[in-house]
Order: sequence, then structure tokens, then C-alpha cells
Amino acid sequence: MITKITPSVQGSEHWQRELAQAIHKPEELIRVLQLPEALLPGATWSARRFPLRVTRSFLARMEPGNPNDPLLRQVLPLASEHDAGEPDKTNGLPSEWGQLDPVGDTDAMASPGLLHKYQGRVLLVSTAACAIHCRYCFRQHFPYQQANPLGTQLPATLAYLDQHPDIHEVILSGGDPLSIHDKKLAQIINQLSSIAHLKTLRIHTRLPVVLPQRLLSGQLDWLVSTRLNVVMVLHINHPNEINDEFRQAIGCLQGRNITLLNQSVLLKDINDDADSLIELSHKLLACGILPYYLHQLDQVTGAAHFEVSEDTGLELIQQMRQRLPGYLVPKYVQEIPGQAAKTPL
Ligand SMILES: *Cc1c(COP(=O)(O)O)cnc(C)c1O
Ligand code: SF4
Repeated sequence: MITKITPSVQGSEHWQRELAQAIHKPEELIRVLQLPEALLPGATWSARRFPLRVTRSFLARMEPGNPNDPLLRQVLPLASEHDAGEPDKTNGLPSEWGQLDPVGDTDAMASPGLLHKYQGRVLLVSTAACAIHCRYCFRQHFPYQQANPLGTQLPATLAYLDQHPDIHEVILSGGDPLSIHDKKLAQIINQLSSIAHLKTLRIHTRLPVVLPQRLLSGQLDWLVSTRLNVVMVLHINHPNEINDEFRQAIGCLQGRNITLLNQSVLLKDINDDADSLIELSHKLLACGILPYYLHQLDQVTGAAHFEVSEDTGLELIQQMRQRLPGYLVPKYVQEIPGQAAKTPL
């Protein structure tokens, strides 16, 4: 018999306190990691557009003094974010690269914050809050204020699900759904599970990675005792993200009938080499997590410096196929607006 997780209230306050202590000042990040001062003006400028945010737990996995650390590069605002792109041939000025909504989220919104792009499953943009701000995030310009599918708009969300008996899976995505308090999540999952045709609850989250305390001190009864199938898709890009604290946290979910998967984004100078991707797959397996998707970067404004060509991506996948068992090779995909599923590359 599975015993329930019932940590103390003190415990749940613990992760919230840790979340509140996330670093958001570029000068603090640069001081704590002993990085070159020259990075500060660009970081300050770009953080005004999309704020810096990183937990202290994630920061502790970075190498001090190394501006090229693969974890740091995911969160450090750079000057190149706002002047990125190929110079315009006529005037030599940087051209705008990418789009504010590269995956066509606003066109796919069936109800506020509810995206119905694919058959049988809907995705809820659960909250604006994340524990970490990834500079390549394709939802960094998302109009979160108008979409609150689990808050004030919850009745509309439930009504939509009720009216669509062909929907069998609800995906809570981000912003990060695990930044919502357990009490609130318990209420929501209770309501979702009373819709008979819903079979599966999927959670797309980075919290267990960047704030392992979320699982270690959370009150997760809603997650481990729902009648729904539970699939958790984590977001880990580099093997250095997996440390002992994360292993312990993910251990809380093992043996509880939760399918654990991972999605990564292919990122220039972060994980665009076969050794990193292969090591990541091995480390995931050791935690009971299987690689699911490797995403081609969505071309969101501000993220040009992360782009890896499709040719390079295909070559990396080829090397992974040669050196790994098939189940450790993620599907290399791209999201193309208007398609019926993610497109395999
Ligand atoms: C990516 C995505 C999904 C999930 O697609 P899977 O291929 O099932 O992982 C569902 N809905 C939306 C809107 C998505 O962007
Ligand atoms: S939604 Fe995901 S990718 Fe975007 S900032 Fe939050 S954790 Fe990062």
C-alpha cells in the first residue's frame, strides 16, 4: 500500500520562502557568481524587458567565475537579446528576429488561457509565475493578464471541457503550474477529475528541477491520489541540472504510478553537443525519467543567440542514435503553427 505524503505545513511554507528568495537583480547575480562587471549594463537593460529570475538552488549548480556556464546561459540577460539578428542589408542596423508569439498561441485560445491545438488534449496556461525565467522562453511575451484559466476563468475552462467529450487529457503548462499552492491545485484537480471523460492529467513543470523543495516540502496528495493518469514532463536541458537535491526530490514521486518524462530545448553553446545530450539521457534514466522531446528553438523575439541550425540538430540526433539505446533518444521536433501535432524533424 502506498502511504500518503503528508508533510507539515511548515514544509510547504519552506518552498514558498525559498521561491521568494529567488535572485532577480542582475548586480546580485554577477556579484554572487563573481562574473565580469562588463556583463552588467546589458543584463540590466535586457532584464527590463523580461526580468531576470533564478532560484538559489539552481544558482548553486553553476560554476563561479564562468560566464559560459551552461546553466547560467539559460538565465543571464544579455545585451545581444535586444540587438539580435542579422544586420539589415540596406541600413546595416540589426533587424528584428523572431516573433512575439512564434507558435500561434493567441490564435489557438479556445477559452481564456486554454489552448486547443491538438486532438484529444488541451493545454492550460496555468499561471504567469515561474521559479526561473528562461531567456529562450517562447511564452515570455504571452498576455498572461487576460488569461487565467485556473483562476477567475475556471468556470469557463470547466464548461469548455464539459462540452468536449473528445478531450481526454488536460495539460497544465506554463508559467509553471507547480508555482500554484497545493491547496488550490487540490481544488482544481478535484473539479477536473469529476469530468468523466478526462483520463489523464499532464503537468509540464520546471519547478522540481530549479526548486527541488517544491516536491520535498510540498503537500502532494492531490498529485499522488487522483483517479487520473498522471504524466509529469520535466524541463531539463543540461546534465549539470541534475544534482543530489533533484534526485531526492524526484524520489518522492517514484513508485506512485506517475510517468516521468523530460523535454529539452536545443540551445546554442548550452547543449548543442552530443556528449552533453548523451550524458543528460543517462542521468535522466538513473532518475527514472525518459527523454521525450528535444525541441527546435521557437523563434521568439530576443532569443536569436540560442538558435542551432536544423542540420546540426539532425546530426546530433544521429550521434545519439548510434551511442544510445532507442529509448534514450528524444524525438527531435518543432512546433509549426497550424499543424495537428509537433512536427518531427
Ligand atoms: C505541445 C502541445 C501539446 C502537447 O503535445 P504532445 O505532442 O501531446 O506532447 C498540447 N497542446 C498544445 C497547445 C501544445 O503546444
Ligand atoms: S514557462 Fe518554462 S521555459 Fe518559460 S520561463 Fe517558465 S520555466 Fe522557463
